[in-house]
Amino acid sequence: MKIDVKDSKGDSAFNFSVDLGAPPTVVRPDSGDGKPVTLDWDRAMDDQKYLRHCLVCGCSDMYVHKAFPQVTGFALIILAAVIASVLFGFGQILLALIALGVVLVIDLAIYLFAPRILTCYRCGSDYRSIKIRPGQPKWDAALAERYKAQRMIERGRR
Ligand SMILES: [Zn+2]
Repeated sequence: MKIDVKDSKGDSAFNFSVDLGAPPTVVRPDSGDGKPVTLDWDRAMDDQKYLRHCLVCGCSDMYVHKAFPQVTGFALIILAAVIASVLFGFGQILLALIALGVVLVIDLAIYLFAPRILTCYRCGSDYRSIKIRPGQPKWDAALAERYKAQRMIERGRR
């Protein structure tokens, strides 16, 4: 299992691999600076070895998503549009359609082979190389909004 811990702004703070045979209780960033993170293993795994709650913050609301590099997908579409319009301009309609088709297939392949990630709503930690429960909910805007509001309140208190 690989865990990517986020800072309060949601940026990646540090990441590490966890050996489930010998799970660590405290992890530190490799660089040595930054706060150590205590992992909460208490009832974290169910009988089928699915993660029940976030190890970093204990939150049980998590969502599954694809690690699809959105910038790559977007750049490919722009590139395809440019190539296709140039080919259209030269009257090469068949070639233009082939170019669009190829990009579509590449985009689809990236999407299909992109690894699935489990992410915590509360602290934003990402879990990769992990067994994901069938039927694990996808991102829910209402739930995400609720956690965002909660974070604002918590930040205001500090
Ligand atoms: Zn969390």
